Amino acid sequence: MKVLIAEDDMTSRIILDSILKKWGFTSVLTCNGKEAWDVMQSKDAPRLAILDWQMPEMKGIEVCQKIREIETSDPPYLILLTSKDEKKDIVKGLQAGANDFISKPYDNEELRARINVGQRMVKLQSELGDAYRALKYEAMHDPLTNIFNRRAIMDLLEKEIARAKREKTGLCVGLCDLDHFKKVNDTYGHQIGDEVLIAFTRFVTEKLRSNDHVGRIGGEEFLIVASGSKDLQQDALFERICEHVRNSEISTEKGNISITVSIGVARYTGVENSDTLIAAADKALYHAKKIGRDSVVYAGNI
Ligand code: GH3
Ligand code: MG
Ligand code: MG
Ligand code: MG
Repeated sequence: MKVLIAEDDMTSRIILDSILKKWGFTSVLTCNGKEAWDVMQSKDAPRLAILDWQMPEMKGIEVCQKIREIETSDPPYLILLTSKDEKKDIVKGLQAGANDFISKPYDNEELRARINVGQRMVKLQSELGDAYRALKYEAMHDPLTNIFNRRAIMDLLEKEIARAKREKTGLCVGLCDLDHFKKVNDTYGHQIGDEVLIAFTRFVTEKLRSNDHVGRIGGEEFLIVASGSKDLQQDALFERICEHVRNSEISTEKGNISITVSIGVARYTGVENSDTLIAAADKALYHAKKIGRDSVVYAGNI
């Protein structure tokens, strides 16, 4: 594990470095607060830091304060090194964001014990962070296709509507429904049906641009939120998706399968909300089904 040492006194720095090395840590040495702050802002910064209180350029307590201003789910563990005079200011140090302190001259065993606590806390924090990220991912993604789930794509749509209103940019939604999907399940079984759903999301994703997003809102129904472009009919995004799905074969253990999709598209004109926008797209989708499927219908053109 990497540990930052910020200590302006050379002798103390060298001693600390050799003790930490002996204990199996890799130390990153700095001789003032400014250097320490630079290191702690870098990518791959140490997760544990021992900061001397009195240092030129920037004091240890200021480094603590600055580090705590960084927004992160993995905050580092900070130990302040204090001399006798600063002991009375310990509350100030803790308030500045230090996790612990140790007074100089320190006892090696005490230092080791405090570093061990820090190491445990960093590990715990990482595990918590990983668990939090995994839960957040799960809460937002469909487990079968790994794309956004209904809640996540609807949240995104709300945000994009607010943005389109604010920045007067274009926004379209495309409601996609696989054609005769029940037949796929009936012919090849549910398992192959699942594979087809996964393949479909891949085809869609291959055609999306950087500002477009797709989510699964129900069984074989998907919502595409396409932002930024004023005239999507001209961009032909949905036509390209429809064509790509039609022309792509899905190889399964029961042979190659072809599918088609119908898409209803509605454009945000500055007055719609998410419900009315989806309702308009749904109406267009219904029309696409009615005229023979495998097509894109725009709400304004019905
Ligand atoms: P249409 O062209 O009118 O949309 O016909 P369709 O057969 O696609 O429509 P319908 O709504 O009758 O059938 C949808 C089918 O999708 C029925 C359901 O069993 C299937 N389905 C829903 N979710 C899943 C899933 O997660 N996996 C699989 N394999 N099938 C699913
Ligand atoms: Mg000092
Ligand atoms: Mg359906
Ligand atoms: Mg369908």
